[in-house]
Amino acid sequence: MEPRFERKLTRAIHVGDVQVGGGAPVSVQSMTTTKTADVEATLSQIYALAGAGADIVRCTCNDEDAAEGLAEIVPRSPVPLVADIHFQYRLALAAMEAGVHALRLNPGNIRKPEHIKAVASEARDRGVPVRIGVNAGSLDPEIAARHGGATPAALVESALHELDLFREVDFENVKISVKASSVPLMIDAYRLLSETVDHPLHLGVTEAGPPPAGLLKSVAGIGTLLSEGIGDTIRFSLTADPVEEARAGRQLLEVLGLRERRGLDLIACPSCGRAEIDVIDVARRAQEAFAERELPLQVAVMGCVVNGPGEAREADLGIAAGRSKGHLFVKGQVVRVVPEDEMVEALIEEAERIVEEGIEARLAAADETAAAAAEADREALLEIKGADANRSEERKQRIRDLG
Ligand code: SF4
Repeated sequence: MEPRFERKLTRAIHVGDVQVGGGAPVSVQSMTTTKTADVEATLSQIYALAGAGADIVRCTCNDEDAAEGLAEIVPRSPVPLVADIHFQYRLALAAMEAGVHALRLNPGNIRKPEHIKAVASEARDRGVPVRIGVNAGSLDPEIAARHGGATPAALVESALHELDLFREVDFENVKISVKASSVPLMIDAYRLLSETVDHPLHLGVTEAGPPPAGLLKSVAGIGTLLSEGIGDTIRFSLTADPVEEARAGRQLLEVLGLRERRGLDLIACPSCGRAEIDVIDVARRAQEAFAERELPLQVAVMGCVVNGPGEAREADLGIAAGRSKGHLFVKGQVVRVVPEDEMVEALIEEAERIVEEGIEARLAAADETAAAAAEADREALLEIKGADANRSEERKQRIRDLG
């Protein structure tokens, strides 16, 4: 049997349906680079990140438009979402109103205790976990001055100060990060933090830069800590397409034996107010059917043709439901329409053909009437369920009311 790294047991928190800490598998995180207000572009990137191995995705929530975008994105995201908050505590409240699964707060740039406690109280009432995300580059100047700079002890003190404020309002649903761009500094800071608290830790080397140097720094910092049993969730911060960071994070966990190796990437939408099928059941049947085949593809199972092909356009292949039909799509383009009860079989057949003939050939062989049929079904469904099947407008109004 392969040797395994013994992991330090931390308390468990839940970011949506992903457990972090408490012995759960180490999860991979990544962050979108789109404007969060651009709902379609952001969702498409979230799907690409999920396909590349991200278990949790973070989106910036830097203004009210971003918070309103989150109100539309959350119900359609295949993985739990974390809102990244800087400076304006009200945006943390707005992000929770939008339904995000977790928040990330930087203690260096929201400093007023009453603001921090207002966010923590709301998070406590809603059961939303928070990451205390300390960053050496934006450390509270007072703490830095006391320690003679951004030392490991200073980073840990900043995190503990925030945790104390949270505790004042009875809130400890927390994970913590103490990131730095210096690998030795972040390693020492996390070691110290791990000796001090039993909260789950989110590991990262911040601003690691473009690959290959960025990859090396992240592997050195995150890999060292994981090999010591420290860390419950990780993020590579590369100056690159975030898909690359999600993939690298996942690969690091696989080579360290902390996650299983993956064959086929099957992603499924979360099934929202627009779903036309039981997505979980179809995804399960597809998973079983694909399990017998070694196909190096990313395959998506999507609940509706209104948004499915667009949301999962980065996938090699997918199926979206609509009006008792399955709309088979390749790289976001609908190539065939099949009866709903033949969806899984059609998916398998197309996957085998893609492996044999290639994506371009399958796109060239598309049924010419399929795209028009999908568009007709899409429009009919929009007519039936309206443009706001997920009641995102109500959430957006509440965000505006927060003012
Ligand atoms: Fe997206 Fe449609 Fe699935 Fe809803 S049902 S998450 S809109 S694909």
